[in-house]
Amino acid sequence: MDEVRRRAYLDALGIPLWVPRVRGAAVGPGADLQNPGGTPARPAIAPATRSGDSAARLDAAQRIDTAALDWPALRERVAACTACALHATRTQTVFGVGTERARLMIIGEAPGADEDRQGEPFVGRAGQLLNAMLRSIGLERGDVYIANVLKCRPPGNRNPSLEEAAACAGFLRRQIALIAPKLILSVGGISARNLLGTDAPVGKLRGTVHEVGPDRVRCLVTYHPAYLLRQPEEKAKAWQDLQLAARLLQES
Ligand code: URA
Repeated sequence: MDEVRRRAYLDALGIPLWVPRVRGAAVGPGADLQNPGGTPARPAIAPATRSGDSAARLDAAQRIDTAALDWPALRERVAACTACALHATRTQTVFGVGTERARLMIIGEAPGADEDRQGEPFVGRAGQLLNAMLRSIGLERGDVYIANVLKCRPPGNRNPSLEEAAACAGFLRRQIALIAPKLILSVGGISARNLLGTDAPVGKLRGTVHEVGPDRVRCLVTYHPAYLLRQPEEKAKAWQDLQLAARLLQES
């Protein structure tokens, strides 16, 4: 991506550009004050870890057996789902969007009011920021696949309950298997908790390459765009996470 576009995207993300101290040094918030030589800051990539009970977490919910479903059948099952109480309050289910051949899969938490109305994940303000985050690494929304842990909106945007997440897990598991992405970007603590089976905060999970499910898909964790709207000072860390994601995608 050329520098002018990259700067425009960073600007849209609300990330201030840092001026390099030496010619050729990295620009952008990845450039590190403790790294005055200007070598691009690299978040540590810990050896890939198989996070605890991640597979078990995704396998636990056998209430809905999705393993043999193709895309149309999976869509139908989601649209007709009454496995938890959320079906009674939803306007519609929110399945997922993007290319089924995506190399990068974004996994969020649950639909909000806008998503419930439009039937598509990440279409509200958080979605606009997610689009800008993707563009900052040269990706359009249509280049990735975006899904949520829950396919129905929890009333009042409360956190999903364990039961609701368990009832929905088979759908997400099948989406991951059908797409077989090179990398999952888990946005926010709820997504990370359900994918990795850990209650550790995002701040502890980011910067490490995790693995998800039986196929051990590589997974990075970053802040939820809705959180970044409330805490814009954390955008620089999200930018580092995106750069790491871009590097991992390049390598694979
Ligand atoms: N937040 C999410 O986690 N998912 C959406 O689809 C919208 C907002």
